Amino acid sequence: MKTNLGLTTIWYYILLFYLISAAMARGQKHQVKAPNFIVIFADDLGYGDLGVFGNPSIKTPNLDNMAFEGQKWTNFYAAASVCTPSRAGLLTGRLPVRSGMASNKNRVLFPDSKNGLPASEITLAEQLKEAGYTTAAIGKWHLGHKEDFLPTNNGFDSYFGIPYSNDMDRVVQKGGSEYWNQPDDSIKTTHFNVPLLRGTQIVERPANQNNITKRYSDEAVAFIKQQGENPFFLYLAHNLPHIPLFASKEFLGKSKRGLYGDVVEEIDNGVGNIISVLKEKGFDDNTIVIFTSDNGPWLPFKNNGGSAGLLRAGKGTTWEGGMRAPTIFWGPGLVEKGVITDLGSTLDLFTTFSAMANIPVPNGTIHDGVDLSKTLLRGAPSSRNSMLYYRGTELYAARLGDYKAHFITQGAYGEFGKRIVYDVPLLYNLAYDPGEHFNIADAHPEVLKQIENLVLEHNSQLVRGKNQLIDRE
Ligand code: MG
Repeated sequence: MKTNLGLTTIWYYILLFYLISAAMARGQKHQVKAPNFIVIFADDLGYGDLGVFGNPSIKTPNLDNMAFEGQKWTNFYAAASVCTPSRAGLLTGRLPVRSGMASNKNRVLFPDSKNGLPASEITLAEQLKEAGYTTAAIGKWHLGHKEDFLPTNNGFDSYFGIPYSNDMDRVVQKGGSEYWNQPDDSIKTTHFNVPLLRGTQIVERPANQNNITKRYSDEAVAFIKQQGENPFFLYLAHNLPHIPLFASKEFLGKSKRGLYGDVVEEIDNGVGNIISVLKEKGFDDNTIVIFTSDNGPWLPFKNNGGSAGLLRAGKGTTWEGGMRAPTIFWGPGLVEKGVITDLGSTLDLFTTFSAMANIPVPNGTIHDGVDLSKTLLRGAPSSRNSMLYYRGTELYAARLGDYKAHFITQGAYGEFGKRIVYDVPLLYNLAYDPGEHFNIADAHPEVLKQIENLVLEHNSQLVRGKNQLIDRE
């Protein structure tokens, strides 16, 4: 009897020792080496466009697998509902209205725009360089195409990509709907005289967009292959599935969802190649990959635009379909598996990655992000419990917990109605009603009051940046 007790005690201590060692090893793994970060940013991909987010026709096995191995975030927001401000928000961790990268007139930058992201803004790349990161930007930039504003002058060691939207610099004379209503195969990559840059130099014009997705993914794989001990940050911002849509021969005609599906499936294939090379290099233990989208689907393009799934409206609006993005975090050595229904935003990446790389967020500048690292690493509740929905420089809506109030609503691109300013804001419970169908403002004046207080507090500290989108040549 005594012997048995003794043995049990010994086994107990062996088990305790093992558990403590394992916990310490796990803790050390988080602290010893700064993690690598990869942001894969799709353009105009809707909430309902991935298999794992419910699309019944588009096959995205690699992204689905990332979600199963990592975290699928169902309440994750882009910083804005159109390209330029959304990207400024992600890379600075600040609401675009603060940096001046938001405007009511020109909502994005154009090829004749004079300005871009102000030099005073600290980008995530500049921030991570403080901790010795190697940094690379691949793909769409859209934060200023003039040399001073390009990625290599914003903290990135290298850049390869089209510096703005792939539908710009159009050289065909046909008008808007007449042009876009042509059969898909009448729309050629040569119709868009967009430049392809390496560093600050144009290396191809017009950029051949037929294989641009493949080339961006291959460039990302090549970059990862070159990496060694030094931590790295890779920002891969695809130009697609923003219209015009192009896919490589290998993917053309393969998806049940037509050309749009072909494009998304090619992006998914590139994601698979990136995950494979991370595993080959042994980086999978210490790398966090996030996949998300810059804004909702461009719905007026019908079959050539994506789907917001169960959400209302799309790109350009402050309805959920405009800003809630299908988001996946992956990193088998770091990210706790699960589905996260708490709030998150691309605005949080600056703060979160800074915390994980052990770099303080710069003093003296207001940041709008929260640190999501505890949610990523341990599945703890998210530190974000509110979201502000700006259209240009005006606050249209605000979310607090599950409730969202619309002070102003407005459609975009000729759909979803004219601008309405509400005396009593619309109120939706997004947990029950993600499609924003049932206004419950009358029943919850106390919730409206709380949201209005949140906005008052925000407004009291808001310093608006000088509009950088307005000046054109
Ligand atoms: Mg976009």
